[in-house]
Amino acid sequence: PQPPLGKGGLKIVADPNVPATKPGELGSFKGGLKALPLAIAAQLADRLKLNWHLTRLDRTDRETYIAVFSTPDGQQEVEARTVVLTTPAYIAAELLQPLQPSVSSALQAFTYPAVACVVLAYPLSDVNGKLVGFGNLIPRGQGIRTLGTIWTSSLFPNRAPAGWQTLSSYIGGATDSEIGNLDAEQIVGEVHRDLSRILLKPGAAQPKVLAVNVWKRAIPQYNLGHFDRLEQIENGLKSLPGMYLCSNYVGGVALGDCVRRGFERAQSVREYLQNQQSDSRSI
Ligand SMILES: Cc1cc2nc3c(=O)[nH]c(=O)nc-3n(C[C@H](O)[C@H](O)[C@H](O)COP(=O)(O)OP(=O)(O)OC[C@H]3O[C@@H](n4cnc5c(N)ncnc54)[C@H](O)[C@@H]3O)c2cc1C
Repeated sequence: PQPPLGKGGLKIVADPNVPATKPGELGSFKGGLKALPLAIAAQLADRLKLNWHLTRLDRTDRETYIAVFSTPDGQQEVEARTVVLTTPAYIAAELLQPLQPSVSSALQAFTYPAVACVVLAYPLSDVNGKLVGFGNLIPRGQGIRTLGTIWTSSLFPNRAPAGWQTLSSYIGGATDSEIGNLDAEQIVGEVHRDLSRILLKPGAAQPKVLAVNVWKRAIPQYNLGHFDRLEQIENGLKSLPGMYLCSNYVGGVALGDCVRRGFERAQSVREYLQNQQSDSRSI
């Protein structure tokens, strides 16, 4: 099905069965955030290809691209008039190097420090007081390594059994790249020590460890010079018509920004293809 775009611009049609939220109010899915990619995958059905690894992009003299994928069934090639690269910048940089080196070098300059997400559960009897709210952020300079903690089971229902508190903590980032070199046990040790100083009663027992995910290259940093590099990229892409970048180093990292950007790119692709069709009709 066509994406829900209006004729004149971006139009996202809300499902009337989904409860409306107020601006700034947090929402999630009953079964967790994975509900979103699973629903998209169900809509795409067999058009979705998993474990297809894009290894090369070539430009043809027919104004198309050949995308070469390594797949579980061997190498596959797809010819397309448009390509939307949704990979992190450092991957897009490798893929675009042979086609447009100036775009590639600008993309290469974006940095992605390591971040770990640690989900721990504690008996409520070990928590110091009742946690009501979103969570806590910890300013650098307090001598606490953890960046912040989301009080997951206080925020959303069914995130912990009765009598338990689930806490999702983030650690690492631009001022602590060392975190990418620690193993899961060491990272849990760091977070538990910090939580013991902030949210837990003295002598709290070791937590149940529900998840430790380490992103060695997590979130692109919008450092000084970021927007000059984006301009360099935009200029360089003019020599590659039909090539689009759509990732969190352009226009915001939050999930909502990613969804909005996806719709906007879909609109750009549609307009490009429509213009190409009308050009070929006039020839
Ligand atoms: C630890 C952490 C916590 C965050 N917390 C929040 C939060 O609380 N709220 C919020 O709004 N946002 C949060 N974000 C930000 C948000 O999750 C990201 O900005 C967003 O998911 C990025 O989406 P994306 O599609 O641009 O990139 P990604 O999700 O990184 O997707 C890129 C995809 O490209 C694929 N890929 C890479 N190379 C190739 C290749 N050669 N061929 C084929 N595929 C390839 C990868 O497998 C990956 O699936 C967080 C991010 C991190 C890392």
